Amino acid sequence: MRRAPLLAVVAVLAAVAVPSAGSAPKANQRVLVVLASTGAKPYPVADVQRVFAQLNEFMQRASLGQVHVQADVTPWLTALTAKPTCGASANGIDSVFEPARRAAAGAGFDTSRYDTVVYELPDARCGFFGATYGHQVMLTREPTVELLAHELGHTFGLGHAMGADCIDYLRCSLEDTGDTLSPMGSGSLDYSAYEKSLLGWIPAQPRVTAPKSYVLTPPTSRSKVAQALVVDTSRGTWWIEYRAQPFRGLVFRFVDAENHSAPYDPSAILILRPTKKARPWLVKGESFRIPLSWRVTLTKGSAKQASVRFRP
Ligand SMILES: [Zn+2]
Repeated sequence: MRRAPLLAVVAVLAAVAVPSAGSAPKANQRVLVVLASTGAKPYPVADVQRVFAQLNEFMQRASLGQVHVQADVTPWLTALTAKPTCGASANGIDSVFEPARRAAAGAGFDTSRYDTVVYELPDARCGFFGATYGHQVMLTREPTVELLAHELGHTFGLGHAMGADCIDYLRCSLEDTGDTLSPMGSGSLDYSAYEKSLLGWIPAQPRVTAPKSYVLTPPTSRSKVAQALVVDTSRGTWWIEYRAQPFRGLVFRFVDAENHSAPYDPSAILILRPTKKARPWLVKGESFRIPLSWRVTLTKGSAKQASVRFRP
């Protein structure tokens, strides 16, 4: 798995309308990509179109066929008279986007006809590559699938996917985008089962209430079998999922009841080292003790499904 160098911040969220958490994104995401600069054309339009085609494949796969992305890309609009600023001023974020929006309108692209507008503003010199404001995305560098999957995730209402070695924050530091698997963190594999559940891409998942073995399938295809196992504790909720590609292992994430990610959905924290090994999953035969709860063992793991044992 490639670890994408992903730096994306969410800036200035107050007073910005964000989609209601927990609602499923529309099946057909219409995206307008506005390429706007003060004269430069730093990367070809065709490259941007190709990345959006790859994003569409990623999104269709991640959503189990329920969401696709259809992007229109403007030509380079090179008549901006000033370099864009990096955040909302007193006039709000719209003042940053307005010159590019007007340039797009002049070229025949009506931003109001799209679910999301991505503004590619390569002249902006900011401390971030991407930032999302409601359904408007600002990118300061050439887009990648990982960056777009991250920012579109925000437009869907997802918060950051965090990472930590443990959930005792006095002992283990919490990294804001530390999830090395999800694009909402620093990963590029796939959205987590927890995130897919928030987006309505997988149905409600079973709660573990008894000490027994459960069968689990990866959250990568439609299934009537569990695609995640959910454990409620007094401190928060654990989401356990099984991945068969590119590794076979059991992944643990924790949604802290005290977590405040508003206006986004509560963030999950990937446990980066559930064993002493430097990887965020258990392989067959390994166990992880959920604090104050079950001891969880991956007893079988095939390409299709896993057996997971819960003991007191
Ligand atoms: Zn972000």
